Amino acid sequence: MNIARQLHVIKKKLPASVTLVAVSKFHANDAILEAYEAGQRIFGESRVQELILKQEQLPKDIEWHFIGHLQMNKVKYIIPFIHTIQSVDSIELLKVINQLAEKSNRTISILIQIHIAEEEHKYGFSYKDAENLFKSSLLDDFSYISVSGLMGMATWTDEMKQIRKEFAELSRFFQQIKKEYFANKPDFKELSMGMSNDYPLAIEQGSTMIRIGSKIFGERR
Ligand SMILES: *Cc1c(COP(=O)(O)O)cnc(C)c1O
Repeated sequence: MNIARQLHVIKKKLPASVTLVAVSKFHANDAILEAYEAGQRIFGESRVQELILKQEQLPKDIEWHFIGHLQMNKVKYIIPFIHTIQSVDSIELLKVINQLAEKSNRTISILIQIHIAEEEHKYGFSYKDAENLFKSSLLDDFSYISVSGLMGMATWTDEMKQIRKEFAELSRFFQQIKKEYFANKPDFKELSMGMSNDYPLAIEQGSTMIRIGSKIFGERR
């Protein structure tokens, strides 16, 4: 895989409004450096242990996004450096992030993960639970969290119709939430949806942030 070339191919077709997160999980530091040297600065990882090693060893101006299921007891390891936690899937997790961010005197960007796929094992709030969260004033209490938007993962399927439907639904929800609860909060602006196999569909449906792994780095080791 020529990483620099793949990055170029993907970025060439990206609308300016869409941010590319390079998902480097299971890939070695030299692969990440290749992408870094080609200009990429935002990287996504889904395991805490792996992320903290990479963060120590790689350039400090990398913006790290956590995209996997995050266990409460591991939050403390990433709080000192993490830029965005895209995979916030419970209120308990929000509380822990806010507490530890306060201790570190940092503000952490987070995305609320919405469960949009058919698979049961995927994480995230249901639409209903997310709406209830936004309706409550709970988020206002978290001074060390910046709520930057929503994240979702479509069903793993070849059926474009199914994926498009899931992305369209999430996009509608995002617009509605933004209008109703974040009208005066410009930080709420990211709709993170789209991976290697479905990102063109996601962009078509209004994604502002895509998370691409294998199309940049090749298959995971
Ligand atoms: C692994 C992963 C990606 C990237 O997947 P690819 O199919 O390799 O592009 C994106 N988002 C999340 C949440 C992931 O876990």
